[in-house]
Parts: sequence; C-alpha cells; structure tokens
Amino acid sequence: MTDLKVNVTNLKKNYGSNHVLKGIDFKVANNEVVVLIGPSGSGKSTLLRCLNKLEEPTSGSIVIDGNDISDPKTNIDKARENIGMVFQHFNLFNNLSVGENIMLAPVELGKMTKEEAQAKAKELLATVGLSDKFDAMPNSLSGGQKQRVAIARALAMNPDVMLFDEPTSALDPEMVGDVLEVMKDLAKEGMTMVVVTHEMGFAKEVADRVVFMADGHVVEVGKPQDIFENPQHERTKSFLEKVI
Ligand code: ADP
Ligand code: MG
Repeated sequence: MTDLKVNVTNLKKNYGSNHVLKGIDFKVANNEVVVLIGPSGSGKSTLLRCLNKLEEPTSGSIVIDGNDISDPKTNIDKARENIGMVFQHFNLFNNLSVGENIMLAPVELGKMTKEEAQAKAKELLATVGLSDKFDAMPNSLSGGQKQRVAIARALAMNPDVMLFDEPTSALDPEMVGDVLEVMKDLAKEGMTMVVVTHEMGFAKEVADRVVFMADGHVVEVGKPQDIFENPQHERTKSFLEKVI
C-alpha cells in the first residue's frame, strides 16, 4: 500500500526484563489522524518514541514514508526531519526567543536560509495565533502559548507526520482549547498525525481512527464512534468508563 505513512509491524521493546511493547502492529495512512489512547504505562509514549528513534526497538519493523527506519543503512537524521514531535513538556530553548526557537532547526540543518526561516517562523506564528510573539522569550509565555510555539517549531521543518504525546496534559484547563484548536486546524489541512491524548472530545471530533493500547498490546482499533459507543473488549470498556 503506497498511501501508508507509518507501517509498524510486530514491534517489540524491552527495557531489561520489562516487556513494554509486546508485538505492536500500527498503521497510519496518508492524511490520517490517529488518536492513541490507553492507561498510563501501556506503552503509548514508547511507541511514539520508537517512531522517530528516540528509542531503539528491540525487534520488529517500522517503515515511515517507505523508509525502513529499523534498517541500519537508513539515514535516521534525514528520516527524523520529516517527523515532527510535540511533547507534554514543551522543551523550548529558554535562552532563545520564540522566533529563534522556530528558526533553529531549519537553519542549522541547512534546509533554509535565515531569511527563509524567519519568514516561515512568522507565517507559522500567525497560524498558531501568536503573531505578536516573534521576539518574546519563552519564559514570558503561558503554558498554552509555549505549546503552540512548540507546534510551530515542529512544523518549521515541513514534516510529513506530526507526533503529539499528551500535548495538553501539562496545561491549565483554560489553555487546552487553544492548543486543540491549532491541532484541529492542522488535521483539516491534511496533516498526518498520531496523537496520544486523554481529550476524548478531540478524539471523537478529529480522529479518523482510535487505537486503544493496554499492557503493551494494541487491544482495539476503530472509528471513534465505534470505539466510544460500542467497544468490543472488556479492557476498552473499563478504560473508557474511567476517562469519560
Ligand atoms: P505510557 O506513555 O502509555 O504511559 P510509557 O511508554 O511511558 O507508557 O511506559 C511504558 C512502560 O515502559 C512503563 O512501565 C515504563 O516504566 C517503562 N519505561 C518507559 N521508558 C523507560 C525507560 N527509558 N527505561 C525503562 N523503562 C521505561
Ligand atoms: Mg506517555
């Protein structure tokens, strides 16, 4: 299938004797939004981190955009340039301005001139509703604003896929909506996205498919309405009863 952006097959990840991913099959089509849900400790972050090789898989195959990133011959830096990642904690460089944070990777990696990166950063700040923050320092921003800068920074590399790991979990409740709006806009524009979140409203509204993980396994995959209204597995039911 050529329209597969992400194709994970029988992925296993052990930390010593702790078997965290126990044979995950996980596919994301081009332009698809997949929301990954599941109890804490089920392996959601580990799966995302394997997708851009922040973690080395123990076994299994991960093909992104036709590149087998588990193949040692694959240039992982090049592959990573096409995968944007947004974390719960924004990881902005506090000694750099907002604009400099966004410009850093494209300029350092030789993807853009400084002028091009600056224009791109301004354009991206406008799309995340922060046009006036180009020269601001991260510490002067709210958590929600920082997270929108982190999203703009990830987008600056023109990634093909965006991975979000609980992007709103560390935010005050009144900040969550603005960040989710930015993510919804991205989805509407056709960005391929994998989103780990506890925001079930977002999952219902935006996800093409929901993947429920528990204990290192994919337990159930389906359209949001099927997963939320008619879960097939006991574990899915009991998880959803707790979070909804
Ligand atoms: P989730 O994101 O679903 O909450 P994680 O992927 O963070 O789950 O963690 C799954 C399991 O992997 C947990 O038992 C956690 O303790 C373990 N784990 C995660 N990262 C590491 C690591 N770097 N070293 C050892 N164990 C880890
Ligand atoms: Mg996690």
